[in-house]
Amino acid sequence: MQEFSFIDSIKQSTYRQSSLVKGVGDDAAVFRPVYQDVVTAVDTMVEGVHFSKATMRPYHVGYRALAVNISDLAAMGSEPVFYMVSIVAPDDWTEAELAEIYSGLHDIAASYRMDLIGGDTVSGSELVVSVTVMGYVPKDKARYRSTAQPGDIVFVTGTLGDAQAGFELLSGRKQVEDKEASAYFIKRHRQPSPRPEFALALQSLSRLTLNDISDGLASEANEIVESSQVALHIDYDKLPHHHWLASYFPDETAEWSLTGGEDFELVGCVRGQDWPHVLQAGEESGLSVTAIGHVEAAASDGPRAYLHEQGKQKVLAKSGYTHLK
Ligand code: ADP
Ligand code: MG
Repeated sequence: MQEFSFIDSIKQSTYRQSSLVKGVGDDAAVFRPVYQDVVTAVDTMVEGVHFSKATMRPYHVGYRALAVNISDLAAMGSEPVFYMVSIVAPDDWTEAELAEIYSGLHDIAASYRMDLIGGDTVSGSELVVSVTVMGYVPKDKARYRSTAQPGDIVFVTGTLGDAQAGFELLSGRKQVEDKEASAYFIKRHRQPSPRPEFALALQSLSRLTLNDISDGLASEANEIVESSQVALHIDYDKLPHHHWLASYFPDETAEWSLTGGEDFELVGCVRGQDWPHVLQAGEESGLSVTAIGHVEAAASDGPRAYLHEQGKQKVLAKSGYTHLK
């Protein structure tokens, strides 16, 4: 591969962020935040582990690799600004396929006004796409999972379980006749919509706990519980599902919405008095927000997450569904 022409082909012709001093083209990039804190994260996708050519076009690999990182920036309450991409490409991946990965990256980057400021491409035995992102947040305004307090309302954005449905459809384990529903679920898996606008609309709140749903609500709820040392109570009946999920996959809805993961919605905790503000932020960002439970002080046996279903209270483990059955 002609490295210089490849870098030229993936390089942005103009940049969107005014704090960028030097983008692609030198030994490293330079940016100059004015007063903000810089939030940074990295996520790596490996062919055969995190995706396969059978269910994802190279375009989706790129799109999704950046989407999952933007979701982490959203969960920190930060505004996405920059990203860098490191690719390990096997010999059987053509330059056209690599270009398609970048096309997916560029498309989602454009919709969040992010700039590609660097990267690296090397050859190796399987495709690995590693994306590093940077976001800005006003000084001391990053949102942590350690700040939940007794009395808080627990909420989630959007609907849960859709991405797992999409994956099941793509891998051929499930079918639905309804083409529109099928396309919806598949898009939720391949091209998740991270929620930074929503998190940014809550910037004025003095306290907000946020976590993004990458591993499933059960797992994320337990992360909040452990970090905040509280009890988190979730009402199963309040969990938001797309009506297509409940009608086409009634037997799987519970499991997928608790442990399916990869919906890249946000779960959060706020004071009751801030709840109207949360609803308004949802409206402003075109997103449904649903109260699904509340926070209490940890019981004497330690901080835990609980699921309330049909009048019964169960411990909600990270792997949730084993307790549901
Ligand atoms: P160096 O050899 O100094 O590390 P490179 O020649 O690898 O630099 O890269 C030159 C410039 O192109 C740098 O700005 C680098 O970040 C960028 N770049 C290289 N490969 C990629 C890539 N795959 N995606 C995005 N930017 C890249
Ligand atoms: Mg150099």
